[in-house]
Amino acid sequence: MSHILATYARFPVTLVRGEGTRVWDDGGKEYLDFCSGIAVNTLGHSPKCLVDAITRQAATLIHCCNLYGIPQQEDLARVIVEDHVRIPGKVFFSNSGAESNDGLIKSARRFGHARPQPNGSPRYEILSFSQSFHGRTLGGISATGQDKVKEGFEPLPTGFRHLPFNDLAALEAAIAPETVAILLEPVQGEGGVIPATPEFLRGAKALCEKHDLLLLLDEVQVGFGRCGDTMAWREIAPEVEPDGISWAKGMGGGFPIGSFWLSDRTVDGGKTALSSLMGPGSHGTTYGGSPLACAASLAVLKEVLSDGIQQNVTERARQIRDTIAAWDHPLVTEVRGLGLLIGIGLDVSKMNIPEGKLPSIHLSALLLEAGLLAPPAGPHTLRLLPPLNVTETEVAQALELVRTSLDQCLSSPANPAGGVRG
Ligand SMILES: *Cc1c(COP(=O)(O)O)cnc(C)c1O
Repeated sequence: MSHILATYARFPVTLVRGEGTRVWDDGGKEYLDFCSGIAVNTLGHSPKCLVDAITRQAATLIHCCNLYGIPQQEDLARVIVEDHVRIPGKVFFSNSGAESNDGLIKSARRFGHARPQPNGSPRYEILSFSQSFHGRTLGGISATGQDKVKEGFEPLPTGFRHLPFNDLAALEAAIAPETVAILLEPVQGEGGVIPATPEFLRGAKALCEKHDLLLLLDEVQVGFGRCGDTMAWREIAPEVEPDGISWAKGMGGGFPIGSFWLSDRTVDGGKTALSSLMGPGSHGTTYGGSPLACAASLAVLKEVLSDGIQQNVTERARQIRDTIAAWDHPLVTEVRGLGLLIGIGLDVSKMNIPEGKLPSIHLSALLLEAGLLAPPAGPHTLRLLPPLNVTETEVAQALELVRTSLDQCLSSPANPAGGVRG
């Protein structure tokens, strides 16, 4: 009997070792890992630069808490602001994506107090979107646009409204006197790999300027190179300047760390910086930004900036898209996403699914048998999230497993896609 709270329906595999894009289970079976711990293992498993950074820092100072100076935080914050975001601002270090979003939500509330409604009461409402995912804290599930994460936890914190994604007219119509911010994922990850359109991102920014709202980007899954550019929003609409950004997942390459950034732009015609609204005592964390976590993240974020990584993301993404397009497979409705966050849309009407199973989970289970880790993204989408340094050969091997497993799912196996295989 397990003593672990059963919040996860896990796949029946236990992983015990990893190296690069490969992992091994407790029976010695090898897998290609295109899950990467859900977009976490940015550089694959146990890359030398990360192991060295962790080893060195662990032998020097692991934790000291935020009551004292932490030089690794200063170094990491400088790299994030100057090299990755490239807009003046300040960062706060947390331990997870949900925590980072909670920080953004609190920052929006502060802004709503500093810039209240005409009647003097604070603004507080955050507009977010259907199918979004923002984490599992009370703040995170309130912001999330999926009912399944909220069931049984009501009453939830108020002050959130969910609108159709990529619908600028609906967004504009929803803005009320109490509205203070717009929160969105540049590419919705858990919700099915759905990128924001450039028009939507630009339009949301224009509405923020017109109505004095904050544009908050949840880059927890997509940030730090996953989508090609180090910031996913810049891959979609580079001229858009956000007011706040949250990250976690890929940021530590497997070591738990999250962060949020607030812009230094002024919010009252020249006196107060947005980032200064979160002053002493406004927020905190015991673990966040430990010397060890920051040293790990520094090693990863420096590597992510190298030309080799960014070029590989672009080339491998093209390889994946071209290969899947060439199959012309009857189960594939479309390939969505950005960079190496890829969603393969499934035509579930043509799939042979065991009673009571979700199509994407069934396909993930078949792939696992075949030797590939690839998670679902909602019921109708298979997600590919290889490490950013995945090789051409590994991509080709993984895609061959995807094609075979798709064939296995076809309801009429007499006519598999791609015809005879050479
Ligand atoms: C995973 C995820 C979160 C939550 O991150 P945790 O580290 O699990 O708390 C929040 N937002 C997005 C977009 C995510 O993909």
